[in-house]
Amino acid sequence: MKAELVRELDQQHIWHPYTQHATAEPATVITRARGAYVYDASGRQIIDAVSSWWVTTHGHAEPSIAAAIADQAQQLEQVIFAGFTHEPATLLASELCARLPTGLARVFYSDDGSTAVEVAVKIALQYWKNRGESRSLIAALEHAYHGDTFGAMSTGARGAFTAAFEDQLFEVARLPSPDAVDTAAALADLLDNSRERVAAVIVEPLLMGAGGMRMWDAAILADMAAIARKAGVLLIADEVLTGFGRTGPMFACEHAGVSPEIMCLSKGLTGGFLPLGATAVTEEVFAGFLGDRAKTLFHGHSFTGNPLACAAARANLRLFDESCAARRAHIETVHRSHLGALTAHKRVTNARVIGTVAAFDVDANGGGSYFAAIGRDLARFALQRGVLLRPLGNVVYVLPPYCVSDADLDRVYTTIAEFLDT
Ligand code: PLP
Repeated sequence: MKAELVRELDQQHIWHPYTQHATAEPATVITRARGAYVYDASGRQIIDAVSSWWVTTHGHAEPSIAAAIADQAQQLEQVIFAGFTHEPATLLASELCARLPTGLARVFYSDDGSTAVEVAVKIALQYWKNRGESRSLIAALEHAYHGDTFGAMSTGARGAFTAAFEDQLFEVARLPSPDAVDTAAALADLLDNSRERVAAVIVEPLLMGAGGMRMWDAAILADMAAIARKAGVLLIADEVLTGFGRTGPMFACEHAGVSPEIMCLSKGLTGGFLPLGATAVTEEVFAGFLGDRAKTLFHGHSFTGNPLACAAARANLRLFDESCAARRAHIETVHRSHLGALTAHKRVTNARVIGTVAAFDVDANGGGSYFAAIGRDLARFALQRGVLLRPLGNVVYVLPPYCVSDADLDRVYTTIAEFLDT
């Protein structure tokens, strides 16, 4: 199909995410992808420096994942997951549990990151209900982002994204941002005063993504986990972004040696090929739902446990071998050296790196926010030069697929430096 027709149909029929269609420029038509690149309709190569919304792990169109999906599609594409089960879902669950922090032993499948969080929040609340305890408060972090469905929005920070729904969101106990203060002290205070009301505390371990790529200390996470455990409060680790090697180790909780009671996974779970969410829990949490019918977790989705997505995830996991860990470590080193050079620029502050994610703030004439024009300007400038960036306002980040080359990263950082010099 001709690119002009795609553009025309897009303008006529598509409603894009996070897009103000009154002012948005026409979307770029992408026709194919491979490795660290996507290609536009004219065949132009574009480095995907954001892993297409943080999902692509090893690379676009990774052949072994594509083949696993194709094979699975010939065998079993979908089956209802209540009362029925299948090999890809069971093998994936056992392979995940073998890699997850100790204690996580049961997997509930859903569709994406938001639903993985919804399931986690519902499990946490119902767990206490099932035990006859009225703990209905969730503690969550300032600047948190957990997704766009209502439970996920409620636990996330309030702001422009949630403003229209303020009245429908449930209250949470808001803890200060761990990139600014020692949140463990605030959690201890909260639990000293109202332990019997708190069901769970939810965190994005060590890297708060959409809230501004805020990086925080493993020691704070370790303290928070210890405090929560002592008080008998469930810890929910939202590893939707941080899972699957993004921050270095397979899961960010490993930096702190923390084993949460509940963990949310998505994005990199299928290597970025197909939507799939997973909420992993301990056997103790699972046991809290055993008994009469009223104790059932009444939650599910049409595509829960979809065989194609599970097959993709298994193929993705197989690629997390030694060389992948070395690649990720190498990307971190390359990030550090480029950031070292960039910090010489007077508009760059707060340069930071965790694993394969690098970020810094750009001075935006005294102010910075998600709506700072500088982010859009940089994205446009970079795209013209064949680099896909999507800053969070004045927070610029580089989050590439693991197959990215040094030359690609060089081009990404050179483009950013050129923009800063304009
Ligand atoms: N949790 C975290 C930490 C995220 O970064 C995101 C998305 O960016 C989500 C949840 C929501 O995931 P999804 O967009 O797949 O619903």
